[in-house]
Amino acid sequence: MNTAEFRKRIRKSIANENLQSALDANTERRVKGRDAAFASLPDWRERRQRAHAVRAEVIEHLDQYLDQFIANTTQNGITIHRAKDADEAIKIVLNIAGAKHASPLLVAKSKSMVSEELNLNHALEAEGLRVVETDLGEYIVQLRHERPAHIITPAVHLRRSDVGQLFHEKLGIPYTEDIPTLTNTARKVLREVFLTADVGISGVNFAIAETGGFCIVTNEGNGRMVTTLPPVHIALMGMERLVRNLDDLALMLSLLARSATTQKISVYTQLIHKPLPHQQRHIVILDNGRARLRNSPLKESLYCIRCGACLNACPVFRELGGHAYNSVYPGPIGSVISAGLFGSDFVPLAQASSLCGACKEACPVDIDLPKMLMRVRAGQSEMRELKEGKRKEGGGLSSMSIIFLKTYSRLATHPKLFALSQKFAWLGTFLAAPFTDFVHLPAFTGWGYSKDLPRFSGKTFRDRWDGSQRNTYTSRHVHRASDDKQSLPAKEETVRSLQGDIDTTEQFITELNKVNGNVIRTTSNELTGKIIDFLQVRSIDRIHLEPNILDESALSRAGINLSREADPAIRVGVTKAICGVADTGSILEADGDGSKLQASLLPEIHLAVLKRSDIYPSLSNAIHRVRGTKSAVFITGPSRTADIEMTLSIGVHGPGEVQVFLVDD
Ligand code: SF4
Repeated sequence: MNTAEFRKRIRKSIANENLQSALDANTERRVKGRDAAFASLPDWRERRQRAHAVRAEVIEHLDQYLDQFIANTTQNGITIHRAKDADEAIKIVLNIAGAKHASPLLVAKSKSMVSEELNLNHALEAEGLRVVETDLGEYIVQLRHERPAHIITPAVHLRRSDVGQLFHEKLGIPYTEDIPTLTNTARKVLREVFLTADVGISGVNFAIAETGGFCIVTNEGNGRMVTTLPPVHIALMGMERLVRNLDDLALMLSLLARSATTQKISVYTQLIHKPLPHQQRHIVILDNGRARLRNSPLKESLYCIRCGACLNACPVFRELGGHAYNSVYPGPIGSVISAGLFGSDFVPLAQASSLCGACKEACPVDIDLPKMLMRVRAGQSEMRELKEGKRKEGGGLSSMSIIFLKTYSRLATHPKLFALSQKFAWLGTFLAAPFTDFVHLPAFTGWGYSKDLPRFSGKTFRDRWDGSQRNTYTSRHVHRASDDKQSLPAKEETVRSLQGDIDTTEQFITELNKVNGNVIRTTSNELTGKIIDFLQVRSIDRIHLEPNILDESALSRAGINLSREADPAIRVGVTKAICGVADTGSILEADGDGSKLQASLLPEIHLAVLKRSDIYPSLSNAIHRVRGTKSAVFITGPSRTADIEMTLSIGVHGPGEVQVFLVDD
């Protein structure tokens, strides 16, 4: 896409009033929600630095961690495939899925940016497969024959009226703007797809080198469906998506959901280590330009954990939306990796940034996005000059840019000159505008179609600094500096001791209530009776029950029929949780006898039995309990979505009710 074409798309987006109002509502809510979510993580700045270091370590030694991951995964019984580019990856998927089948194969897909990168749906459909996106936002854009407009919220560009009209036309329901009705319609249509799919395709949020497992996070439960129900599961993974071990994973998870969806943790955090019985599991590890990117000045962009926070924070993305970028990866990170992965056609995207730094501030792994964007821009200028055969001194910068930088460097190293220059900066800025790459005025650059140049301040910063504000600033600064002197372990200790003062049981109950779950306190002796009471109040006489957790003869006497098999007609599933997590209100479930993973997924009500002594303070303590499981999942409240206008809707694909029977020992 050349610059002129990009500008045309920009003008089109800005003129689209419907898009503008959808973007204003959606991204604004995400930004505010993110701030609130991070307020519950006092040490988030330190965590961010640690996360940056973890990603840097993995990318630096990528081959070593990939080898370790592949060896462990293979030992776990998962088949690994490596694809150097999109064509190879598509061939592998077709091969596994067994294309050219007598009847068209049905593929249920959960969200995967790698699959978008491959344009996989198109390729599979061309071979006669039927592919259905099952994330609500992805399903909506698939029905509209569009690409996702955001890496986390694919339908960010739409209002509820758009979805109401779409479902009316495509699914034949009466027009409605009622979000629960729209969500419920999608639930019914997609439930059929999950139950009959031949192949499930998912992405991978993180792969864990030490265990050979991988992690998928979703809120709706569609990720669990496509990895649990079909006989074949294919996970698509960018080769950079590794962490070293479970501790690193816990760290990443504490940042990912807060940044992506403003939650402490996603509703379903799955850790998959092995195939389930009667299931084939495959992982396709994709390069597609990543190895090249790793050896380029844009290497840091591979640290990205695809949370989408930089898109929401970016003032340019908030005006344009994702489609204007015409790339699978839009926004600040998209402008870097699109150029890095897909080549020079995408280099003009890097101009769509004011370099204000909001993206860097929002990034949970502290990627220096403005620096990356500048590098793409420098690369563009370098390429242009190379093409025109007039490569000059200055790393590809224009001659006016070089003069500007030299002048600035002289001023910046002479305080008196610098003070003087500040007084006349407004004049210099105006005069320099037509000639430099650094100042963007509407008349000369085309930039600013919807932005006014900020008004110049009456006083320079230096004037204000010399005045009464010096004291205020200094005292604040001193306070922050002393804060920063506290060492990281000391800060962690402070956080831990604060946590120790909070009763973990009360914290677990409070957190679960916050995410629309509920706790019923009981003792071991009363447990079965309380569950019978719960069922009888709702007139439920059949349940999917994990063996050996309730008094089954008492249940039979009460007229409750028991099933060990997944059955979509059953309304209640009862399982025993491995443990609970106090600071998120999560419970951990894993595979086991009686199809227990399905019991916590398919019915509309999930009853989980949890021993009070099995509650851990935080995810970092609890995460090691997944070792030895084939597939485990941290469940945090009922299934939910906010894919339509960022409005919360409970009970999408998974249970709409989670009741934890908390057993006092
Ligand atoms: S660059 Fe940072 S903020 Fe942007 S999507 Fe990646 S991890 Fe999130």
